[in-house]
Amino acid sequence: MKKIIVYIVVSAAVISMCLGAAGCSTSTNVLAAQQSSENADSTEKDEASGEVLSASRDIFAMDTYMTVEAYGDHCQEAVDQAEEEILRLDQMLSTGSISSEISKLNQDGYGTVSRDTFYLIQRSLELYQETDGAFNIAVYPVMRAWGFTDQNYKVPDETELKKLISDMDLTGVVLDEKTYRVQLANDEMEIDLGGIAKGYTSSRIMDIFKSCKVESGMVSLGGNVQLYGAKADGSSWRVAIEDPNNLSGYAGILEAKNRAVITSGGYERYFEQDGKEYHHIIDPKTGYPADNGLKSVTIVSADGTLADGLSTSLFIMGKDRALEFWQAHSEEFDAVLIMEDGSIYITEGIENDFQTEQKSVIVRKEDSDE
Ligand code: ADP
Ligand code: MG
Repeated sequence: MKKIIVYIVVSAAVISMCLGAAGCSTSTNVLAAQQSSENADSTEKDEASGEVLSASRDIFAMDTYMTVEAYGDHCQEAVDQAEEEILRLDQMLSTGSISSEISKLNQDGYGTVSRDTFYLIQRSLELYQETDGAFNIAVYPVMRAWGFTDQNYKVPDETELKKLISDMDLTGVVLDEKTYRVQLANDEMEIDLGGIAKGYTSSRIMDIFKSCKVESGMVSLGGNVQLYGAKADGSSWRVAIEDPNNLSGYAGILEAKNRAVITSGGYERYFEQDGKEYHHIIDPKTGYPADNGLKSVTIVSADGTLADGLSTSLFIMGKDRALEFWQAHSEEFDAVLIMEDGSIYITEGIENDFQTEQKSVIVRKEDSDE
């Protein structure tokens, strides 16, 4: 067997590459899909039998660098289908493309959408309820006011922000499950699935891996990782969680199988004005970037869509509310919270899977009863 035995995925490292190289705009802007010229596509073969054992591909889509890898029979087919699926979803969900379903919905205020878009809006509305409004896809006009949609960064007026957040009440959105018709709540409302779309995309790639019957596989979408099965030797994958306080290092290593490992952090996309940093994760209650002492939130869950939505949500909630939320939903996910002061909070479900040399606290379910 070859190099597929030991695999370390450095979560979020590709995001810092992205910032340095291009100063990315929001994650839903479409750039032309392109494969990087080196190592863009590789296929490993078993020398004895000539059988294909592994395939991988680097893709640029959803405004970020992505890698898809699959192992076992049909791995090439799985990687081909995964790329097609990424490009299909990017085209459908991007706010940066005027012809996307989301852009059309935003222009008209209503419309009939595809099953994928409908499902994502439905999950987003559920998350809005469950997170008490922390997750709010009607954030697009606020993203625009801050310049995150076109990289014309500026700090908006407080009165402008107040007006914009007053139009973000998602309870008025009407969904028709039979026809997939969506009606937004008011004329000003515009939605942005950037907080959840990559997690959905990675979970769709897991479906492709399953239907292609590959043995194992991995996708990394701008540092958001989802793992299919175990590594080829049966052992867990090892995912390095980036240290937001020291971007050249990592905070710890998570061992996982069949899980999404998705990180949100204010250090990923931001601009500076008058010596202050402003990042792209907005607290819908204020219209300002969340600023609560949390530096990054990593969610570990079998459900990629949930993991992505919650990484954004818990980052906005701040440590105390985030941990309370975990206590109420600990069957569905685990989390690693990294604070500005470097301290790390790890929920007990991954206590034995996450190794760190930094100061850390294990958060237990019974903590809530104290
Ligand atoms: P990443 O940039 O890695 O995808 P997130 O998953 O946290 O990070 O998503 C951030 C994106 O989510 C923003 O670029 C914006 O499109 C959207 N967003 C920002 N604030 C919110 C919010 N409060 N609720 C839902 N989506 C948000
Ligand atoms: Mg997210």
